[in-house]
Amino acid sequence: MAVPKRKVSKQRKRKRRTHFKLHAPAMTVCPNCGEVTLSHQVCKACGFYKDKEVVSQPVEEEVEAE
Ligand SMILES: [Zn+2]
Repeated sequence: MAVPKRKVSKQRKRKRRTHFKLHAPAMTVCPNCGEVTLSHQVCKACGFYKDKEVVSQPVEEEVEAE
């Protein structure tokens, strides 16, 4: 429930915010290529998800420098 801003003391506010933390994302190792990837998401290195190729990877082309 909403509480007026001035009714919550600095101490109370800061104690509540001690639980607001960043946490590291859940990472797994891709079973296809062995790259460390985010879990439940398509592997960015090989485009596989659950042993199937979902996103086809472009063939690497060498960029010609002038
Ligand atoms: Zn992979």
